[in-house]
Amino acid sequence: MKEFELIKNFFTEQVVKRKDVLLGIGDDCAVVSIAENQDVVVTTDTLVAGVHFPLGTSPKAIGHKAVAVNLSDIAAMGAKPSWISLAITLPEVNDDWLTDFCAGAFELCEYYNVQLIGGDTTQGPLSITITAQGLTPEGKYLSRSGAKSGDWLYVTGELGDAALALRHLKEPLLTEDALIEQVQRKLDFPKPRVLAGQALREYASAAIDISDGLLADLGHICQASSVGANVVLDAVPLSETMTKSQLFDDAINYALNGGDDYELLFTVSEDNKVGMETALSHAGVKITCIGQMNASQTISTTLNNKPVPIKGLGFQHFSTK
Ligand code: ADP
Ligand code: MG
Repeated sequence: MKEFELIKNFFTEQVVKRKDVLLGIGDDCAVVSIAENQDVVVTTDTLVAGVHFPLGTSPKAIGHKAVAVNLSDIAAMGAKPSWISLAITLPEVNDDWLTDFCAGAFELCEYYNVQLIGGDTTQGPLSITITAQGLTPEGKYLSRSGAKSGDWLYVTGELGDAALALRHLKEPLLTEDALIEQVQRKLDFPKPRVLAGQALREYASAAIDISDGLLADLGHICQASSVGANVVLDAVPLSETMTKSQLFDDAINYALNGGDDYELLFTVSEDNKVGMETALSHAGVKITCIGQMNASQTISTTLNNKPVPIKGLGFQHFSTK
């Protein structure tokens, strides 16, 4: 199959057709139209086989993840995703592989009304780069830099399962099939917090999506906002799977340092706390307050109301990640 046939057979088959796409796949560029009172947020993420996903990952999961990691960045900005382009490098043309890849990618696009408007197709080692755009009302995007001392620190969902799945792949430590399946699903099919991000736009002072681990990504907020933070370890939300896995102290390490959760980490002022909690409960999203920002410029952790040194918790486990 030639390049053009491949593009026609697979990438033009998407069902989402947005009115604001004046020209989609097929010309030298796509053309989109934007309302006067809106801003466009833009992000790009690359997934390289063996680096960003294990080599045995199913094509459907790869397609899903490639879109999900980009929509997660759009969510962290409080924006509504609108368009993506896909640059894909394939070792060979395999119809079954491409069908499953597109199914994974397009399922998320359909759910959020995101249209694939262009891309590039080349031959080489498997690699996928997606650029995604999203829309916000003018000047109303979230960023990493707005956190203030005294703001409350929140996280959506539950943390650590994806890291646990990765760990298990390297060195089996889970024995129950049901648990293995559950954590593997979290790793392969992360759910970007698109609706939560938009609901937070009116309330959060800063936001980031957790791709590198809670502590690392909290560090980005602290640095960009010139503040510090204390994390209450007892409050960090772990999944039922994680609790059932009986990993005890290690569980918190997965939650704090594992990546790939794609939950949102955000800060809210005391004044916006109740409004935010109401908005997110209407959106049906679980959130947990896990600490507070302060003026220290560093990150500290407490357990049972007592300070615990971050180094003492065995975080170096993941230093090679
Ligand atoms: P050009 O050579 O002008 O860059 P291409 O031949 O690479 O154009 O692509 C033809 C059309 O197909 C363009 O509109 C391009 O955006 C689109 N396209 C190519 N690869 C992909 C892909 N993987 N996904 C979506 N659209 C693609
Ligand atoms: Mg091209």
